[in-house]
Amino acid sequence: MLKLKLDNIRKTYDSGEVVTALKGVSIGFRENELVSILGPSGCGKTTLLNIIGGLDQYDNGDMIINDVSTKEFKNSDWDAYRNRSIGFVFQSYNLIAHQTVLQNVEIAMTLSGVSASERNRRARQALIEVGLADQMKKKPNQLSGGQMQRVAIARALVNDPDIILADEPTGALDSHTSVQVMDILKEVAKTRLVIMVTHNGELAEEYSDRIIRILDGEVQSDSNPATETNAEKASKPSSEKQKFKKTSMSLFTATSLSFKNLLTKRGRTIITALYSQIHFQAFQSPSTQVNKL
Ligand code: ADP
Ligand code: MG
Repeated sequence: MLKLKLDNIRKTYDSGEVVTALKGVSIGFRENELVSILGPSGCGKTTLLNIIGGLDQYDNGDMIINDVSTKEFKNSDWDAYRNRSIGFVFQSYNLIAHQTVLQNVEIAMTLSGVSASERNRRARQALIEVGLADQMKKKPNQLSGGQMQRVAIARALVNDPDIILADEPTGALDSHTSVQVMDILKEVAKTRLVIMVTHNGELAEEYSDRIIRILDGEVQSDSNPATETNAEKASKPSSEKQKFKKTSMSLFTATSLSFKNLLTKRGRTIITALYSQIHFQAFQSPSTQVNKL
């Protein structure tokens, strides 16, 4: 069984000018592999990642998760999928400036229904795993870029998702710290599916199990395609399928991390009111979105 399958996914944006960001993308992903997505700016990489993460909706085609079609998914199904199955890592870290490293990781569990003491324990554990045991009380601005990205990885891991999505995680890092981040992602991919968008072809070649090149909204090449027949056999029994636990967390709360960032930067409470129009763009590009407000 494939962990995730994109079947002829199409996505068009129409904000004045019509842009077809994805023109029928079909890709299968195995349960654990480190997949790098390469391609020039504007070719649809972030759109692809956001669709996989349930942050954006496809127009046509299907996304099949654990052998279950998402065509009939309700909002509550998407919420459960995002909250339980997906961890995001962004190029710009998206850490909350006025909170400590530990709090930045704890906050990812605020809505998972775990007690404060359990949140604290799990956050500490995740930070130890990314090598930040001695940095927990610091604020993000006291850390290097590589350390900030490791906090973001700890935050993505702390709810124990099956899939980690990383959008240019080393884009703002020098080569030395990029390697540290890649080492961690490589380790993470031993037990999870990690899909990483990158501009760095060398790092991708060195670390990935598989490289997919995208050009102009289409898959140009795939170094190790996964099909139903060559994917590893499912390790989970079929009764496990489609058991995304329902949660009360809405997309609003799921995206609140990035909103808190915006609020910190601008002190603008009106952002919350504009939430419904901007939440997807805020995820993709907080800095450009701020300019529009
Ligand atoms: P990449 O991440 O590869 O740079 P994107 O997925 O961000 O590319 O964008 C693909 C295309 O879709 C681009 O032409 C971009 O301008 C357009 N696009 C992406 N997001 C939006 C959006 N929210 N609204 C309108 N156009 C968008
Ligand atoms: Mg992008």
